[in-house]
Amino acid sequence: MKKIITIVGARPQFIKAATLSRQFQLIGIDEKIIHTGQHFDANMSDVFFEEMEIPKPAYQLDIHGVSHGAMTGRMLEGIEKILMTEQPDGVLVYGDTNSTLAGALAAAKLHIPVIHVEAGLRSFNMKMPEEINRILTDRISNVLFCPTDTAVNNLKREGFENMPVQIIKNGDVMQDAAIYYAAKAEQKSNILNRISFPEFVLATIHRQENTDSPENLHNIITGLNEINRQIPVVIPLHPRTRNILAQLNIVPEFKLIEPVGYFDMIMLLKSCKLVITDSGGVQKEAFFFGKHCITLREQTEWVELVENGFNILTGSDSVKLKTAFEVFDTKQSDFSIDLYGKGLAAEKAAKEILSL
Ligand code: UDP
Repeated sequence: MKKIITIVGARPQFIKAATLSRQFQLIGIDEKIIHTGQHFDANMSDVFFEEMEIPKPAYQLDIHGVSHGAMTGRMLEGIEKILMTEQPDGVLVYGDTNSTLAGALAAAKLHIPVIHVEAGLRSFNMKMPEEINRILTDRISNVLFCPTDTAVNNLKREGFENMPVQIIKNGDVMQDAAIYYAAKAEQKSNILNRISFPEFVLATIHRQENTDSPENLHNIITGLNEINRQIPVVIPLHPRTRNILAQLNIVPEFKLIEPVGYFDMIMLLKSCKLVITDSGGVQKEAFFFGKHCITLREQTEWVELVENGFNILTGSDSVKLKTAFEVFDTKQSDFSIDLYGKGLAAEKAAKEILSL
């Protein structure tokens, strides 16, 4: 039986990994999960394993709360040790976190094939830690699963076509998750009993370029406060953002709640009027659930959302944020266009992995 080691560590990776783990069980691939510990709180980690029925990690590295370099270095050492014992047929990494890079690097140095899901995405902003992680991970991957044509073209432009690697467009596994778990969310989530607004805007903020710049964060909160005077804003707040707001003594006027599980998040996405976020994943989930999205960043990796009029980029500019809000307040869009593969991405990737 083919043996795969999967590396996860951060919230979006649990959601992505859930989709492939299910397929591995269906087609008979032996998967062991290493959890690096990057996200460790019950509501940033455990809840996803429980709700999404992700197999319990075989290894927990418990690495968090240190600088990027220290974190990546410690993960590299921990993962390498496990890979030397386990000798898997491949190492599967997701997205663009420090866990992604550490997993890919540990495997590549041991000549174990690296499989990267969500390959080829680029923001072209080298100040983002995620951009560094993705470029380096792609370069040492053997199988590059791309969610979009844009991602495939980015790799081609960087010369990957001339390298001995496989580039496969499989679609976006996050759409698989949104489709598969939406029905369960309807049954299991009671978040809407706790959010008593008939109409609301759903927001998330956690990206380093916003949280680590007091000016950007201040501008975003000012913009959201203004919108909140027209329609309530609800924000499941990332622990990093919560800590920084406290340090800066910023008290938002809108409704802050603790980070929610995926089922609750789906229900919030389904019920909101509009999404405002700096998250990568949430931009697409807005689209999956038929909502417009304002993105609090200067660039996005998901350019097709902007090109098709579903998403407006405002950066942290509170005036642009307000203008974008007014555009979407009245706009109607048809969200039926297939941009991300309609929920078959994990199945396709698992079949390819089986035949490697
Ligand atoms: N998410 C969640 N609960 C929350 C906030 C986000 O389940 O309180 C989910 C969200 O639906 C998406 C994923 O977490 O699937 C996105 O993670 P995040 O925004 O942390 O990372 P990014 O996508 O920017 O890498």
